[in-house]
Amino acid sequence: MESLRRGPRFSSIRLHCRALAQPRRCFLPNNLRVRTLQTHSRSSTASRQQPHPPLVFAFDIDGVLLRGETVLPAAKRALARLEGANPTGLKIPYILITNGGGISEEDRCRKLSKQLGFDIKPTQYVQSHTVLKSVVHKYAEKPIMVFGGKFDEVRKVAEGYGFEKVYTTLDVMAWNPNVWPFHELTAEERASTKPVDFSRTPISAAFVFHDPRNWALDVQILCDLVQSGGIIGAPYLPVSEQNKVDLVFCNPDLLWRAAFDRPRLGQGAFREAFQAVYHALTGKRYPYVQYGKPSEVTYKFAEKVLVDRLEELSGRRPAVSPEVYMVGDNPESDIAGANAAKWSSVLVRTGVFDPAQGPPAHTPTHIAEDVEEAVEWAIRREMERAG
Ligand SMILES: [Mg+2]
Repeated sequence: MESLRRGPRFSSIRLHCRALAQPRRCFLPNNLRVRTLQTHSRSSTASRQQPHPPLVFAFDIDGVLLRGETVLPAAKRALARLEGANPTGLKIPYILITNGGGISEEDRCRKLSKQLGFDIKPTQYVQSHTVLKSVVHKYAEKPIMVFGGKFDEVRKVAEGYGFEKVYTTLDVMAWNPNVWPFHELTAEERASTKPVDFSRTPISAAFVFHDPRNWALDVQILCDLVQSGGIIGAPYLPVSEQNKVDLVFCNPDLLWRAAFDRPRLGQGAFREAFQAVYHALTGKRYPYVQYGKPSEVTYKFAEKVLVDRLEELSGRRPAVSPEVYMVGDNPESDIAGANAAKWSSVLVRTGVFDPAQGPPAHTPTHIAEDVEEAVEWAIRREMERAG
């Protein structure tokens, strides 16, 4: 996997700027007067010939661009800057990295494009479970169980990735309602199920794709799976390498920012609920793999997406990696992951982070009021650094 590692960045940017420079003045959006770069001349192949800009962005979504279904006012103005309304005159590439998910990348990008008013392509979008595309080969033909989301939406996403035998906890309820007697399937839930005999179907892995909707049912079935070597209803066994069910969580967020006034419990809270119950039953925590921000594997995956996006816009691979700026609202995920990846990080005040509760747990490169201010600050910083 190719990664974005900074080479001789400053000298390269200076050369790049000199090559483009034309005596000209303009205004940053906040009216700060700075020396600027020549607007890139547009030709019929402009998008294929654009020079690489000195910086690229990775944005979190919830609490940065959106809150619930509402677009934050600064989001559209920030994206307009990246589409060329900035002192460099260049389109500045960006990707979105979210710990959200539950639907396909294509469907989410269609929705985001409509909400934000800019074309967001799947090639610039990484959601919590996108990284699972890289492990499909390991499980493609084995039965797996997916958790989270409504009805069988997550099953469809998993099948779209290439997993062939995908089951849900609602399938388990349709097979045997006594598994969890405190829930009765609704007609719509039943219509989403697949018939399968779980007593003859060893599940090799459990993937928590998205936030579970029925924690009690899902904790029960997860406990059944991991204690019985993947066969629901079979006798409980000590966990060993031979009978271990792989457990994968895609989003570690304990909290996330939705439309409600206070942050809501996220998938990380479900993981802790499961582990607390499992610990009470066995005296141990169950081993698991964690994807999503701030995991290293997710940031490595995002770096590859960024390099591909740069090539898509300019028609060639970047010789020198530009500075990456992560803009997020959650110090524990956005800022921690960006800092570990050696990116610059900007923490905004429109989401989870509450300055009234003290300094953030992970120190960002900069704190901004909102995403527009974050973008303006980063562009100004790179231009000043380039001289
Ligand atoms: Mg967020």
